[in-house]
Amino acid sequence: MAVERTLSILKPDATRRNLTGRINAVLEGAGLRIVAQKRLRLTTAAAEAFYEVHRERGFFRDLVTFMTSGPVVVQVLEGEGAVARNREVMGATNPANAAPGTIRREFAESIEANSVHGSDSAENAAREISFFFPEIEIVG
Ligand code: GDP
Repeated sequence: MAVERTLSILKPDATRRNLTGRINAVLEGAGLRIVAQKRLRLTTAAAEAFYEVHRERGFFRDLVTFMTSGPVVVQVLEGEGAVARNREVMGATNPANAAPGTIRREFAESIEANSVHGSDSAENAAREISFFFPEIEIVG
């Protein structure tokens, strides 16, 4: 399998509970390398643009409010099949359905405050990475 890059976000519920290091340890333990990382506070406009594909979903407004409620850590992960590998280690969207050992099973508070975001395809990974990072900030 090819070496890929994917976008990861540690969400406000994770930064609020000081879980950045523990979640990064799980990602690194899964063979993913953090090749770019920064902490920032999303504006409403930025969160709306990032989640544009979900605009018609019933939870869109709540999701934007949650994602702007505190700092996030955005990161680029690199590794063999990184998109799928990260989705695997994140676990299911709803932590009640997430497998033991996954980040969401271990740390998530709810289906909304589920600690991490990960790109769901190579195409979305490319779009999401360029949303946050110029190429010069990604150091493999
Ligand atoms: P993901 O790819 O596993 O993150 O899931 P989705 O792309 O379907 O949803 C994006 C994000 O919206 C999730 O990670 C949650 O933070 C939030 N979300 C998803 N489903 C629900 C829901 O039913 N209610 C609420 N409040 N938020 C949700």
